Amino acid sequence: MPSLMSNYSRLPVSFVRGEGACLWDTEGARYLDALSGIAVCGLGHAHPAITRAICEQASQLLHTSNVYGIANQQALADKLVQLSGMENVFFCNSGTEANEAAIKLARLYGNQRGISVPTIVVMEGAFHGRTLAALTATGNRKAQAGFAPLVEGFIRIPYNDIDALHTLATQQGNNIVAVLVEPVQGEGGVVIPAADYLNQIRSICDQNEWLMMLDEIQTGIGRTGKWFAFQHNGILPDVMTLAKGLGNGIPVGACLARGKAAGLFQAGSHGSTFGGNPFACKVALTVLETIENENLLPRVQALSARFMQGLQTALADVAAVKVIRNHGLLIGIELDRPCGELVKLALAEHLLINVTAEKVIRLLPPFILSDAQVDEIVDTLSRLIKNFTH
Ligand SMILES: *Cc1c(COP(=O)(O)O)cnc(C)c1O
Repeated sequence: MPSLMSNYSRLPVSFVRGEGACLWDTEGARYLDALSGIAVCGLGHAHPAITRAICEQASQLLHTSNVYGIANQQALADKLVQLSGMENVFFCNSGTEANEAAIKLARLYGNQRGISVPTIVVMEGAFHGRTLAALTATGNRKAQAGFAPLVEGFIRIPYNDIDALHTLATQQGNNIVAVLVEPVQGEGGVVIPAADYLNQIRSICDQNEWLMMLDEIQTGIGRTGKWFAFQHNGILPDVMTLAKGLGNGIPVGACLARGKAAGLFQAGSHGSTFGGNPFACKVALTVLETIENENLLPRVQALSARFMQGLQTALADVAAVKVIRNHGLLIGIELDRPCGELVKLALAEHLLINVTAEKVIRLLPPFILSDAQVDEIVDTLSRLIKNFTH
């Protein structure tokens, strides 16, 4: 495909239709989707409620401008605020943009306090997106390679290392204004921190008047069995970013704020042409309503338990499997060796999976799976892993 830039390495398949957890390729062959377009299509493909919302809104109004009031944007903000306990919302079109908004909030916060180089603490192994500031926050040397100079004002510590954060807090003159962290590192290899990690970060941020900024772009919108992963910890962040599952495939991102972070943006501080348009907001609102109407949060927890039981049983005597980790339907199977090849082997069996951090098979299935589909994924995948590692 010489007319496309070469920034993706693509699998030799292309899909033309989807329904529920299934996709059909150009030859009419059916695939089971355990990836959901990388945590995007939580409601699966062509969900009737989403299709209806898209058609109705498309026949009424797609776009006006943030120069005007937008009722759907207000309604989506109200809903997100109600579900999260945050105070207000800025809408954009992707995850990386949501993080740029968060980073700009931290900069405003620092500059208003007279801090000369406001600095954000970020983590090794983090993924926050591909625009320059988000790329700088991302803790992946490969993703950053060749894009120097990166952005000033970030300091990096190991993930899940609360002592390292304590140490920063005791140092003088490091100008820290915020901590930006994922509740689970998805791209980083489904790395799940200590159960009280977020609580500890919350109290260090409180003690030092730093903003706690959670990147819930992968973990939010029900993926972990609650609306947002921080709700497992009984805390509230000061800033939270969302995208991926929020639109079920329609591009939409959001940056939510609370308390001292909620009053930072003033007219003219930040903006987006497309962000929060009537169309994207109607679809996102329908995604949230559908998760509610179909009572999918407990279903995510049940599916997650079925996956874990199935995988633990099927892979119990496979020495090459180091550990199986999950938080809801964010599932990682870590092998003792690089296993990127498994993506192609699974594709040949008409199963869509992902491998991240070289050795971690990652599953991000839709919330609308049947029990039988869970069992099918577990059976196919465990057979492939056994053959691959025997
Ligand atoms: C995917 C992802 C992003 C980037 O989102 P884009 O929409 O691709 O810009 C940022 N943070 C996390 C945790 C993600 O999983």
